Amino acid sequence: MKVPFVDLYSQYQSIQSEIDSAIQTVIQETAFIGGKHVEAFESNFASLYGVKHCIGVANGTDSLYIIMKMLGIGPGDEVITVANSWISSSETISQTGAKPVFVDIEPQYYTIDVAQLEAAITSHTKAIIPVHLQGQMCDMDRIMAIAEKHQIPVIEDCAQSHFSEWKGKRAGTMGIAGSFSFYPGKNLGAYGDAGCIITNSDELATKCKMYARHGALKKHQHEIEGINSRLDGLQAAILKAKLPHILNWTDQRIANAALYSSLLKGNTNVICPEVRPQTKHTFHLYVIRVSKREALMKFLKENGVETAIHYPEILPLLPAYSYLNHQASDFEISSAYSSQILSLPMFPELTPDHITHVVNTINHFFELAD
Ligand SMILES: *Cc1c(COP(=O)(O)O)cnc(C)c1O
Repeated sequence: MKVPFVDLYSQYQSIQSEIDSAIQTVIQETAFIGGKHVEAFESNFASLYGVKHCIGVANGTDSLYIIMKMLGIGPGDEVITVANSWISSSETISQTGAKPVFVDIEPQYYTIDVAQLEAAITSHTKAIIPVHLQGQMCDMDRIMAIAEKHQIPVIEDCAQSHFSEWKGKRAGTMGIAGSFSFYPGKNLGAYGDAGCIITNSDELATKCKMYARHGALKKHQHEIEGINSRLDGLQAAILKAKLPHILNWTDQRIANAALYSSLLKGNTNVICPEVRPQTKHTFHLYVIRVSKREALMKFLKENGVETAIHYPEILPLLPAYSYLNHQASDFEISSAYSSQILSLPMFPELTPDHITHVVNTINHFFELAD
């Protein structure tokens, strides 16, 4: 049996007529940039998500950069984020001219360690970017309390946590803004690059929208110099067609994760992901921890199962950050975990047969190894 890591085509097939007609409409109307499809997606996403403003942008990296830039972050400032994430979380800090400050993860839930986060705050700290990695919520009560105490804005990186919840509140609605990616493989994915910013602040929403559109809210009225970071019409129409299905797809991810965890329960060689209490983990990724990872990965591949590693190296130890002179011991947990983590196939259309095959193969590997 073949089990791909993700299967975007099977999702397309399940809603083919809706997607095809959305694409056809945009082409017939030549509504390629701006216009009603972008506005409709922005307003549908904001209302489904329960937030005042949604601003479509070109991708989930620009969204982080735009928020920081519009909060006035720049040279001389520091922004704190987590050691284990995708590089967008930190490279956008550098793009503003500020310095990325990395903090280790907590051992149980793999998100930013809040005690170390507070210890990393200095008089230069101008923002905190918690990343709800893999769909798991960060400890938002404690993060917001620290942020309020130090008067520092929180920007939630929700690229992997669409519709995740902290005590009933959705990811991205607790900080000053939330940043989303609609990269094709994300929980809500476009057919190319796309992203958005959500916020309940009218002022920040207006600024971000202006900056992303060459500094002009109205054509030719450039109040500031901005950038070109637009959500295009085709992507907006595709995302709008997918939106009515997202809660259902999310439930399927959660059910798939529960099946993995229950089938893997008896295997003491495998550490399964734990869901933080009082939260909704939306399982963008299902990440286990094992020893003998490379051999297991190879064995799974030989048995038709595609896996991945998120991420093989923690951010501060990448060559891009060698100038910060960090060592693995600066980030004890995340650097230890980076050689143990393995992302199993995860997407809504995964079947119980697929999951059973993956788990049987993992169990078989450890039986042979023992
Ligand atoms: C995917 C991702 C991003 C960036 O999104 P793009 O749309 O690819 O630019 C940012 N942060 C995290 C944690 C991500 O996983």
